[in-house]
Amino acid sequence: MKIMKKRTLFFVAIALAAFGVAVSQSIPKIDWPPNDVSRPQPPVVDPGPAGPPASVPADAVVLFNGKDLAGWEDAKGAPAKWKVENGYMEVAPKAGGIQTKRGFGDCQLHVEWASPAEVKGEDQGRGNSGVFLMGLYEVQVLDCYNNKTYADGVAAAIYGQHPPLVNACRKPGEWQTYDIVFHRPRFDKDGGLVTPARFTVLFNGILVQDNVVPTGPTAFRARPPYKAHADKLPISLQDHGNPVRFRNIWIRELS
Ligand code: MG
Repeated sequence: MKIMKKRTLFFVAIALAAFGVAVSQSIPKIDWPPNDVSRPQPPVVDPGPAGPPASVPADAVVLFNGKDLAGWEDAKGAPAKWKVENGYMEVAPKAGGIQTKRGFGDCQLHVEWASPAEVKGEDQGRGNSGVFLMGLYEVQVLDCYNNKTYADGVAAAIYGQHPPLVNACRKPGEWQTYDIVFHRPRFDKDGGLVTPARFTVLFNGILVQDNVVPTGPTAFRARPPYKAHADKLPISLQDHGNPVRFRNIWIRELS
């Protein structure tokens, strides 16, 4: 009986150790430092012309319907100050990022965006914004049409970590779509990471992130580790100083 118990404990210990290894192994080791200009560029693929706004599924929650920012606020909880006109919202530079009033975890998120038709700036200074899942994990928004930047900062990159498989950017001013499937990270009750987050992203209908694992939250020139957080957090859009437009944003929560 005593031996059985010891054995059980031994196997439990082995299983836990293996599980710990599995967690650390499932976070990818990226061979390139963050924001490294020498990292190979994703190949350019023309996604074809832009279409009308995508249809909204019956079970989706509409986060932006083109009329007002009722579901949004700024980072301090004050009313969102971005411009709304002609069915889109536009970053009001220096107004700061905006975020959904509601929190979300696992989800399918549809976002349409357009970088300014008038090209200004270059590299990360041209048509830069971002879609942050849980306010922490960024899918980069950038005008990447004939605009060279570091690979993990290209449009649809998991910023600073995973370049997109291809650069499927349309011309400045044209509408582009992100379809994002996101699984939030899981933490145990002591704040330890159980499973990291996962992203699948289609950019203008083209697969660009294939079940990719972020190394942790988004940062500039850094890859900080995961830090325990709530199961649901707001989705935020970045003010990077460029008047990027967004329209037709909807979400399907995944159970
Ligand atoms: Mg950005």
